[in-house]
Amino acid sequence: MITTDLSLAKSELQRNAIIAIPTETVYGLAGNAFNEVAIAKIFALKQRPLYNPLIVHIKSAGYLDHVAKDIPQIARQLADKFWPGPLTLVLPKQVVIPDIVTAGKDTVAVRVPSHPMTQDLLQQLDFPIAAPSANPFGSISPTTAQHVDSYFAQDLNVILDGGTCQRGIESTIVGFSEGKAIIYRLGSLAIEAIETEVGKVTIRTLDDHAPAAPGMLSKHYAPKTPTVMSVDIPSTLAAYQGKRIGLLVFQSVHEDIPLNHQEVLSPSGDLEEAAQRLYAAMHRLDSLDLEVIVAEQFPEIGIGQTLNDKLRRASSD
Ligand code: AMP
Ligand code: MG
Repeated sequence: MITTDLSLAKSELQRNAIIAIPTETVYGLAGNAFNEVAIAKIFALKQRPLYNPLIVHIKSAGYLDHVAKDIPQIARQLADKFWPGPLTLVLPKQVVIPDIVTAGKDTVAVRVPSHPMTQDLLQQLDFPIAAPSANPFGSISPTTAQHVDSYFAQDLNVILDGGTCQRGIESTIVGFSEGKAIIYRLGSLAIEAIETEVGKVTIRTLDDHAPAAPGMLSKHYAPKTPTVMSVDIPSTLAAYQGKRIGLLVFQSVHEDIPLNHQEVLSPSGDLEEAAQRLYAAMHRLDSLDLEVIVAEQFPEIGIGQTLNDKLRRASSD
């Protein structure tokens, strides 16, 4: 049921049921992070392989030491700067975090979400919540309560409705090695913002890290409709001539395609606006029974890099 009833959400979590929650990135499938039974339900419902660890959502940076230890100074600095917000830190875990949450790893991924409804909920709980995105494994992430409902209406008593996600793209994941930051997953916090804070970072978002990082499996966030990425829309359209084509473009529509089959993500060229709308646009185009979705490549700056990464994963076989 789609609802805004926080006390119902709270009681569901307290009896180790799972619920859907809004965050500023995407909607999450949430359960008590200290309870293995609740976490097992998340993996089962998502059909997510057990080797893919979950992100633990905590109420504040002050709570970090309850779930993580041996925290490098640079991690504290990033937490102070960007929390609450779309930054996930990978840190050595405390024993209270069950192995199923971290897929047996001795590190845990943690962040403080900024969505006011989920903040409110976390403040009322005496445990953190583990939450991957609220979509079946491999499907497009949800950015509205209705998206979650379309996937899991039968399975959840509570889908907390917090409106459209403000960021619309998953968090940026950062780990640490020898006091240096490493980006494991591109996300809605731009690399440039992180580098302004801590200097040059290494990016290590390779598919061969897949068991540690589901957001990095090559086929991910994918529409069911075959999707191709394009740097030159007119020639890609020519190549698919005669097919029912959907167009996912950054700034401007193309005359040869029915308007209803197009999604323009930001007429003004604002990458953050494009990010906010990307998944909803994919959901809509995917529902139109088209033969191919042509997605325009974004400028490779700021979260344009993240958007291109998502498109590459959506379009890979
Ligand atoms: P999702 O919640 O579906 O966006 O996926 C959770 C993400 O957290 C995955 O992409 C993982 O890469 C990341 N993650 C969680 N725990 C760890 C960890 N211990 N080490 C590295 N990445 C992690
Ligand atoms: Mg996901």
